[in-house]
Amino acid sequence: MNIQDIQAILSGIIHPEKNKDIISLGMVDKISVNDEKIQFTLNFQKAKDPFINSLKKASEFAIRNKYPEFKGDIVILITEAAPKKVEKPEQTTTTGGIKNIIAISSGKGGVGKSTVTSNLAVAFAEKGLKTAILDADIYGPSIPKMFGLESYKPLAERTEGRREVILPAETNGIKIMSIGFFIDPEDALVWRGAMATNALRQLIHQTEWGEIDVLLIDMPPGTGDIHLTIVHELKLTGAVIVTTPQEIALADVVRGIKMFQSEGIGVPVLGIAENMSWFTPAELPDNKYYIFGRNGGKDLAEKAGLQLLAQIPLVQSVSENSDNGTPESSVYTAALADSIISRL
Ligand code: ADP
Repeated sequence: MNIQDIQAILSGIIHPEKNKDIISLGMVDKISVNDEKIQFTLNFQKAKDPFINSLKKASEFAIRNKYPEFKGDIVILITEAAPKKVEKPEQTTTTGGIKNIIAISSGKGGVGKSTVTSNLAVAFAEKGLKTAILDADIYGPSIPKMFGLESYKPLAERTEGRREVILPAETNGIKIMSIGFFIDPEDALVWRGAMATNALRQLIHQTEWGEIDVLLIDMPPGTGDIHLTIVHELKLTGAVIVTTPQEIALADVVRGIKMFQSEGIGVPVLGIAENMSWFTPAELPDNKYYIFGRNGGKDLAEKAGLQLLAQIPLVQSVSENSDNGTPESSVYTAALADSIISRL
């Protein structure tokens, strides 16, 4: 447990009157963590704020609930002073050195969005591009497992005169930050949702990405709060929609496309990546079985006036490699990378 963990937990505590969490409100200060004691200060702007006690209790409860094994003291000091200013995202963002930010999205889960994201990142890196992934899929953050990074604990660093930054993992020449590094998959979804939006905002603005050519964002399936957070906090270059040939009839896919294209959001949809297009058994390399139907993604692209960026077959080694933490590019994901590059 470290300062970031405590910040992530406290970013789920909402001040009822201000309707914002206590981290975003700049109320939390001087966090220290060790085996015996967790201590921090809660700054209240208003003397005799009626929520002092309930927020203090809620903070302690949230920490104990998250870390039942911690038996030490939780000391919450209260001060009544103007909260320090929360820096504006434009001033704090760490994404200034990133040339292209691409959201990888899908209508629903299980179509291979994360697998395509990982393999695509490998393809970009193999082309010599400085590549990064931000895994924002709060419902199933699978990028850490796909790169064998389940035990990675992101470190925070504060250099003199600078604010605190969080260091991404780096493997296969790809920088990786995942919401999965911060949330416990066993936490209740409703709790996770509240924490995740704030934690994600922090990841977006505090991750030390450095110079990056392409940042891929593994989005949660469907449309929701996380999508809005991402499109508001980051300037996306475009979105890629992953679908299987079978999903085309699903309203969710169309809704996803419309969300990016809507007036308030205005993120260009670069095209459709059709995954699981056919199955080729290793022993019959020339055979193609269209088990989820044929050309569904292509038809969808035509109907929506979008480009079909690539068709990626169902291959046993693809799923084995992502289970083993060794994602690999193939001619298909390399083709997808080329199609995307040509549209940037
Ligand atoms: P999502 O991110 O859309 O929920 P995943 O990327 O987790 O989906 O993929 C779901 C499952 O399908 C995983 O077990 C993955 O290994 C497998 N999978 C995805 N794409 C392929 C593919 N092209 N070939 C073989 N297996 C695949």
